[in-house]
Amino acid sequence: MVTTHYHGYVYQSVQAKIATFELAGVLWGVMSDDTNQSDADESHGESETALETARLQLDRAAEQVDVDPAIVERLHHPDSIYKVSVPVERDDGSVEVFTGYRAQHNSVRGPFKGGLRYHPGVTEEECVGLSMWMTWKCAVMDLPFGGAKGGVVANPKELSKDEKERLTRRFAQELRPVVGATKDIPAPDMGTDAQTMAWFMDAYSMQEGETINGIVTGKPPVIGGSVGREEAPGQSVAIATREACEYHDMPLEDVTVAVQGFGSVAANAARPLHDWGATIVAVSDVNGAAYDPDGLNPHEIPSHDEVPEAVTDHAPTVINNEELLSLDVDVLIPAALGNVITSDNVDDIQAEMIVEGANGPTTSAADEVLRERGIPVIPDIFANAGGVTVSYFEWLQHINRRTWSIDRVNEELETEMLDAWDALREEFENNGTESWRDAAYAVALKRLAEAHEARGLWP
Ligand code: NAD
Repeated sequence: MVTTHYHGYVYQSVQAKIATFELAGVLWGVMSDDTNQSDADESHGESETALETARLQLDRAAEQVDVDPAIVERLHHPDSIYKVSVPVERDDGSVEVFTGYRAQHNSVRGPFKGGLRYHPGVTEEECVGLSMWMTWKCAVMDLPFGGAKGGVVANPKELSKDEKERLTRRFAQELRPVVGATKDIPAPDMGTDAQTMAWFMDAYSMQEGETINGIVTGKPPVIGGSVGREEAPGQSVAIATREACEYHDMPLEDVTVAVQGFGSVAANAARPLHDWGATIVAVSDVNGAAYDPDGLNPHEIPSHDEVPEAVTDHAPTVINNEELLSLDVDVLIPAALGNVITSDNVDDIQAEMIVEGANGPTTSAADEVLRERGIPVIPDIFANAGGVTVSYFEWLQHINRRTWSIDRVNEELETEMLDAWDALREEFENNGTESWRDAAYAVALKRLAEAHEARGLWP
């Protein structure tokens, strides 16, 4: 048994399951500067890391829901954190040893689920915080998964394709004892993609002696990936916006929308909203925002994937990203970075409603101000959950050995989003929660608590 003391907390880790893994303590309360200064990330800007946010949100939800404090205490701690060394031969023949992590937060409702990121700012505590978010996200969507997150401290831009492949294969081998198609299922995240998942799946399958497509999601459709996975997070943002506008008596045809970013999430949110009658007045990239108060056609502007950072070439007027955030619009969708709505700029927000496309775009301090001002914020754990939902569909397709059509994926995504929205609405209307975020966390926490109560504590 490894027992680690940090800042007054005692973390009694589970018995080391695999001797080669270093089971590390949780750095509650310890913030390293590099975690919150990375680029397009959930931990950028006002100094609040993913772990801090995750803990604040759990504590806030626990105050509003009648849940056994022992269960809340359990949810403060990840089940396990694995730290591995990943030696990789560089193209010049030298060997570099990278550090990788996998944080498994909670699996009471099903196998662990969450992305793997390659980024120089990856830390153990960031993985823990993000794994907690995955637990809430899966619970609020009622998916039979728990939360996990992992990554390698590496800059993928400094690795050749061959080096990235060798890194991924070795990382898969190091994680092999603790992941599995019914145990812990990774997916792409920052710096990783469908190709990374294909290498991971191949390395894992080769060692297991059989092809196990279900070990990862977000892989190419030709080896069992799901169609519609790439578009899903943005699409769910669009569905969330549509439902929230209807709830708040804002007919889409009369609604103006500003979207920060024009990557996968932003473009796949802006385009259906435009098709459904909303007026998209601004979209942006790292260089600035395209703005037209009469409305832009988001189909005519290339997304980050189509032509990187070309948004401002397709604009009648260019404004900067701060100006975009404070536009006088009905709906603001921050869909690029974390921590962009902070106590510094929250008073400038003029939007009637915010829908969180990015993970963690609103700091806790700003969230409180928005709550006091009565501006509805549709939270990330619901709004952008289309990604993990279609990952779940991919996993089901693996189990059933049956490929779904794009129409089926879209229909089922719509159903899952509407079911989750119904649960949020019931919580929001009937239980006196003060915000949509509180409602989402209350729904998630109740489901997790019920599952913990049903299963009991072992031994
Ligand atoms: P992406 O890489 O496809 O696009 C990112 C966009 O943000 C690009 O348009 C880029 O130009 C823009 N951007 C970068 N820096 C910026 C800056 N300083 N100011 C304004 N814009 C900037 O990324 P994505 O997949 O669309 O992810 C966006 C957000 O959504 C992230 O927070 C991500 O974690 C979250 N998210 C992504 C998924 C997914 O599966 N893609 C799922 C859920 C949540």
